[in-house]
Amino acid sequence: MPTGGFSIAAASADLAYQAGISPDASETFGVGEVLTVCPQTNDLLDVCYDWDRVEVPASLKEFERRWGNRSNPLDFSGVWRFRELLPFAPPEQIVTIGEGQTILQTSDPVGRYVGMNPGNLFLQYEGLNPSGSFKDNGMTAASTHARMTGAKIAACASTGNTSASLAIYAGATRLFRVLVFIGSGKIAYGKLSQSLDYGARTIQIEGDFDDALAQVRRVCAEAGIYLCNSVNPFRLEGQKAIMYRVLEGLHWDVPDWIVVPGGNLGNSSAFGKAFLELRQLGLIDRIPRLAVINAHGANTLYELYEEHGLRWNAGRPDQSLIDRFYEKMTADERRAQTLASAIEINRPVNLKKCLRALEVCDGLVREVTDAEILDAKAQIGAGGFGCEPASGASVAGAKLLRAQGVIAPGDRVVCILTGHQLKDPNATVGYHAPQAEASKNPEKPAFANPPLVVANDFEKIMEVIRRFE
Ligand SMILES: *Cc1c(COP(=O)(O)O)cnc(C)c1O
Repeated sequence: MPTGGFSIAAASADLAYQAGISPDASETFGVGEVLTVCPQTNDLLDVCYDWDRVEVPASLKEFERRWGNRSNPLDFSGVWRFRELLPFAPPEQIVTIGEGQTILQTSDPVGRYVGMNPGNLFLQYEGLNPSGSFKDNGMTAASTHARMTGAKIAACASTGNTSASLAIYAGATRLFRVLVFIGSGKIAYGKLSQSLDYGARTIQIEGDFDDALAQVRRVCAEAGIYLCNSVNPFRLEGQKAIMYRVLEGLHWDVPDWIVVPGGNLGNSSAFGKAFLELRQLGLIDRIPRLAVINAHGANTLYELYEEHGLRWNAGRPDQSLIDRFYEKMTADERRAQTLASAIEINRPVNLKKCLRALEVCDGLVREVTDAEILDAKAQIGAGGFGCEPASGASVAGAKLLRAQGVIAPGDRVVCILTGHQLKDPNATVGYHAPQAEASKNPEKPAFANPPLVVANDFEKIMEVIRRFE
């Protein structure tokens, strides 16, 4: 019997391949090829496995034992601890910086705000990752693939967190250099400061995120640079681990709901793939429902799914519906607009993969306003979990679904807190202390906690303190 940990012989590249997500794609590609779309159909690619040849532990409980073996970097990682569930890389090629040390926690104060029974609201706090957002779960996998394919330069377009994550992996490992594309004026300073500090070369485009992404996709194709946006199928493999850790936090009991903010829809797509595979492998017997929450000012998925009825349709979603929607968006010169900058995206690249996830998870989509997002964020903060605005969308969405009677108070609901509070301090200060930070919100927010300005005078300070009691 091995003591602590498992054999990692199962994690080997010849078990994995890439395939287009459309049933009309017949070709498959080796795991060593650098592709972001299927050349046949122009759709995104999936990483697929020959599961019959992977030695997956018979029960999910076995993964937990690896916590006892933390001196092995692969067991320490909250992603690679589950390596048999993303077996595309030879173990010696894996790039890890200790990502995924995040755990599921209950919060009754936030639960009360949402309208849940005590003990039924859970927060998966991904802000605790090395770069402060869930993106590290995916970037450890993309960096691994970049290394496997000998990439010298990696690039991404970013609203901030993808670049912070890619930059930290490059800085910490020195395996490749990094180019970051950002739009003009729409990046939170916490995030921008990270890429600059970690040494990434930053290129600011006069346009928004959707423009920056379109450019970086062309640049990478033209110059042979390794692309790390979530069109990269390997990133999504790493992000599956967020769901493994959620299940682990619930002692492998499947919750009723997963609620996640939707931007480029990589996370929701990865979650759906995680559950689909776990069910195929017989490791879970049911799948939670998935709620994807858009900001009202960037609600493409909400409009397409809930208002126009777009569905996965066995891999053949109505492309003309999508095309018409985007044509109108262009004609109207409609731009994404929300304070939650991480989800300020109007053309989500993982749209079709997300439709598949919604199908697998009997999912639904909701939109919430910036005011609802910021109120939820303030309640999350007051509950002891600081997060950035985009993350607040998950709790605001859960509250809305509870009010609509879709979520019952006794359901077990997991909200994903995608990024750390310190990513975007301007948003936080702007909410609580609008005089200190020009506020876009004319009404006094419901949970504002402004600083009290007092003269430099002991008696006056004591007066204020007595009132506080
Ligand atoms: C990237 C990001 C999102 C959006 O995730 P998608 O996978 O693009 O839908 C949400 N919140 C934070 C903090 C992010 O960094």
